[in-house]
Amino acid sequence: MSKVIDGKAIANQIRHTIKEEVSALKTQHSLVPGLCVILVGDDPASKIYVRNKERACKEVGINSTVIRMDEQVAEKELLDTIERLNQDDNVHGILVQLPLPRHINKDAVINAIHPAKDVDGFHPINSGMLMAGQAEFEPCTPKGIIRLIEETDESIAGKRAVVIGRSNIVGKPVAIMLLQRHATITIAHSRTRNLAEIARTADILVVAIGKPQFVDASFIKEGAIVIDVGITRVNGSLMGDVKFEEVEKKAGYITPVPGGVGPMTITMLLENTLIAAKRNI
Ligand code: NAD
Repeated sequence: MSKVIDGKAIANQIRHTIKEEVSALKTQHSLVPGLCVILVGDDPASKIYVRNKERACKEVGINSTVIRMDEQVAEKELLDTIERLNQDDNVHGILVQLPLPRHINKDAVINAIHPAKDVDGFHPINSGMLMAGQAEFEPCTPKGIIRLIEETDESIAGKRAVVIGRSNIVGKPVAIMLLQRHATITIAHSRTRNLAEIARTADILVVAIGKPQFVDASFIKEGAIVIDVGITRVNGSLMGDVKFEEVEKKAGYITPVPGGVGPMTITMLLENTLIAAKRNI
């Protein structure tokens, strides 16, 4: 039986520290960290994510504003809004909620955010800094995943890590971050052959596919650390990529869904916003 990594409890502890630091910034420097989230359209999942981010900001004393834009908004209007926020000294972090409508070029939008305000860590300058081991803003989900692994009593160095999924926001950066911590990494994806066999070599298995219950016990090495990043809404409830009940029996550690990676992602966003604000001291 594995130990369940309680992402919610770990996130709460970190948020407590962030709250204290935000309060100290206010009293010592009259500086209130500010995050602006841009939400385009009516995607129900995006609305929930944005609401949760707003709530989390409020909880720790970060100023949060949400700019809501119509689904049909012109790309130019969105880019102009980002430029205005780039110039606004009260805004330390800018986040554009993804996905964006198809008529908008996502890369152009991400590239328009000033790298010093890119608290999601998606700007190519920040991805490049991550590659070079100099990141100031590590992307939130991978950063949260590393913290969760660090909460186990296992060290990452020397371990064999397999990451399933190669997206720019999860798979690729988390693999780089594990490599920087001296794991031996394999990145698997939709064209990988013998996936279960490769996964079974992993001391640390990170699953970020977006296919509910895809990974079963046959993918798991006895005692492995299993991080389930996937979130899919099925009949109103959230489901991970991992069959929790059977994998839990074989893994050493496992994250639940919900209550694993999700709360950490938002917490790392708060932390990155605090880092961005501190650059103004
Ligand atoms: P994505 O769709 O950009 O990437 C999915 C990846 O999975 C791709 O690289 C693809 O090659 C791989 N893949 C697809 N089918 C596969 C298969 N059959 N076998 C092996 N690999 C396969 O998704 P993403 O943005 O990286 O997100 C992945 C999941 O993580 C989604 O469920 C998403 O909702 C979730 N997510 C959760 C958080 C969080 O905070 N918990 C944050 C970001 C993403």
